[in-house]
Amino acid sequence: MPALQRTEARTRARLLQVHGYAIDLDLTRGETVFGCTTVIRFGSAEAGAETFLDLRPRTLHRAVLNGTELDPAALDGNRLRLTGLLAENELRLETDQDYSSTGEGLHRYTDPADGAVYLYATCGPDLAPLVFPCFDQPDLKAPLTVAATAPADWTVLANGAGKQVAAGRWEFEPTLPISTYLFTVVAGPLHSVYSEHDGIPLGLHGRRALAADLDREAAELFEVTAASFDRLHQLFDQRYPFGRYEQAFMPEFNWGAMENPGCVVFAEDMLFHSAPTEAERTTRAMVVAHEMAHMWFGDLVTLRWWDDIWLNESFAEYLGYRVTAEATRFTSSWSGFAVKRKGWGYDADQRSTTHPIAASGVESVAEAMSNFDGISYAKGAAALRQLVAWLGDEAFFAGINEHFARHRLGNAELSEFLDVLAQSSGRDVHGWAERWLRTSGVDTLRLAVRHDGERVLSAELVPDGSRPHLVGLGVFDLDGTGRPVLRESFEVEVEPGRPTALPQLAGAPRPALLLPNFGDLSWAKIRLDEDSWRTVASALSRIEDPLTRAVLWEHARDLTRDGELPPAAYLDLVAAHLPGEPVDAIVEAVLTFCRLRLLPCLAPADRPAAEARVASAARELLARPEADQGLRLAALKSAIENATGPEQLAELEGWLADGAYGTELSASLRWAGLVRLAAQGVIGEERIAVELAADPGLTASEGAARARAALPEVEAKERAWALLFDSAGGLSNAQLNATAQGFWQSGSEQVQGAYLERYFAEIGSAGARGDMTARLLAGSLFPTGQSTPEAVALAERTLADDGLSPALRRVLTDQVDDLARAARIRG
Ligand SMILES: [Zn+2]
Repeated sequence: MPALQRTEARTRARLLQVHGYAIDLDLTRGETVFGCTTVIRFGSAEAGAETFLDLRPRTLHRAVLNGTELDPAALDGNRLRLTGLLAENELRLETDQDYSSTGEGLHRYTDPADGAVYLYATCGPDLAPLVFPCFDQPDLKAPLTVAATAPADWTVLANGAGKQVAAGRWEFEPTLPISTYLFTVVAGPLHSVYSEHDGIPLGLHGRRALAADLDREAAELFEVTAASFDRLHQLFDQRYPFGRYEQAFMPEFNWGAMENPGCVVFAEDMLFHSAPTEAERTTRAMVVAHEMAHMWFGDLVTLRWWDDIWLNESFAEYLGYRVTAEATRFTSSWSGFAVKRKGWGYDADQRSTTHPIAASGVESVAEAMSNFDGISYAKGAAALRQLVAWLGDEAFFAGINEHFARHRLGNAELSEFLDVLAQSSGRDVHGWAERWLRTSGVDTLRLAVRHDGERVLSAELVPDGSRPHLVGLGVFDLDGTGRPVLRESFEVEVEPGRPTALPQLAGAPRPALLLPNFGDLSWAKIRLDEDSWRTVASALSRIEDPLTRAVLWEHARDLTRDGELPPAAYLDLVAAHLPGEPVDAIVEAVLTFCRLRLLPCLAPADRPAAEARVASAARELLARPEADQGLRLAALKSAIENATGPEQLAELEGWLADGAYGTELSASLRWAGLVRLAAQGVIGEERIAVELAADPGLTASEGAARARAALPEVEAKERAWALLFDSAGGLSNAQLNATAQGFWQSGSEQVQGAYLERYFAEIGSAGARGDMTARLLAGSLFPTGQSTPEAVALAERTLADDGLSPALRRVLTDQVDDLARAARIRG
């Protein structure tokens, strides 16, 4: 049965009014299924009408509509037809539901360290029927009343407040009306820490094995949580409406976090089992604020249909960064946005699959799911920054508060949102939206400067694109030591189609660096004049403002991706300026770009030398006495991952035995080192097994999967391949991902060669194994490093197959675009 279509959702929303769900889960039924009894009370606008219910049970035992037994055999795929509706109806269902190992539905994880079992439910965007039968669409909101039977030593959490009423029996209060995709339960022998802020009870939860991590991190998590609540309560008229605020950190979670009202689920690596960088702490704070912003954008007022996911995600993203910068100690969060997050969006916006921020014409949930991408998050947030710069805070938040007041506990769509903003600001917000939200692609702002050597004769910004921009312009001179120093900055409004003169500069001394998009207010590529680029190349790391450096590093990345800056020249920039960079978010972003994008562009023969250059820059940074812990961690990771040649590999072995630069390696760095040694043929299966046995936790089991797949031997590759493509193998999402990530290794070209054709021959079959598995195999296992015309041709032949599932097609298309781009750069 296909995913729900918009037209079906609209018809069903007109017909039904759902009064409430009572969901009773039995979590004591063994390792594969849980029991679920659901009672749905709903009204029908039309007597005698028919509709359908969404459910994906292992077994449908009973379905009773208004006292009449329905035939369970009438279940057709994932739908049960309901006929002869009354004005008021009661539907009772008894089902067995499957536990999930892919993070879709109710995920079940067994801790290899102590055998403890943990569960959590992920229902977005259309996975709720994997947990309980429902009318699964965002605009049929209803109160959920949950009960659960669980082992006696478990804690059970759900969206509403609840308690254990008898040993192993949990009952929860009804929630406010919420969408079905926002349902969750979290259960297991959890370790919990509680607090309270401004009348809101707070809880933090994680696996028992991570109790020490949770205890250590609780202070900062509560601090960020409290500060984010305070800031959002200043910005919004309505208080947080969902009662308690639980935050659970769970294993094998597929996303950063999920905004279930009252019970946010995070990926458990945010508990930092290994010491984090400052960038990772900043990102975590941003994610905490992002999910909290969703309590208003998404949970209190919800999109009517999935073409408006930007109404959820762009706002949460924008407020996530903004609240973090304004209300927590992580004041430079926007630098991370500029140097890392935006690149994700710029890449997405330049592929063939790009789409407007407000994507109209999304007819099915499956299509919508593909749009949870860098456009809906990063570009959407950047567009909102433009909007706020243009409207001002006062009009913007007046509009938003009116929006919340009008649609509280209901649904809204783009046009309704634009109406209130137009009203509060008196500006042509609909016109702005046409040009910013209904178009796709990235504009370019190019500087054209004429000078006589001493003074500027004329300067203008030449836009290439279709949008108006409000951008900053930074003017820098060199001081006596050659350091670029800001002379002045000003804002200019750029209209599409014509150059914008910069009269402020005419007659002024010729600057060393002119920077468009200073302050990073817009979504645009920039092209500097030659003099400015020369200054960047010679003095990038000496610019004082981190956001300016972040914008310039992103610019260099963009030039490299566009083939305007050769990879070798980018590596020159890395060699010259990375060792002196004091912000770990920038160091991490640059090193990650090198590893994931730049090195795979190079011909295999050129790669070892380039890897050694990256590793050398990282080592130089490590040798700096003033480098702080975050910088050291970012650099050490890169030095490990790029260790090349007998000398560096021997040093890496030494680090595993004795620690590096005075500290013992964390488990994740230790496993990064083992993966590198395995890939280079220095260690084998025996050592991997010994290391795994010594510390059999989640980090180790994923590290071992990665290391085993990385071994440069035919038998090891064949074993990994069988694990990845044999669906009966039963790997969890996380194990599958780790195996996929380990598979392709630089230096193993000989052994890997045969798998290139096999990959493209077999990947189509992944579509039948569910969207998450398909996405992981098409994403993490894609042969990114094989950027040759032959590989591109093979990939394109695969895309010509009409039978690919939508999720698979989307990820593959994106990967093939990137592969073709890399092949062009390789030349
Ligand atoms: Zn979000």
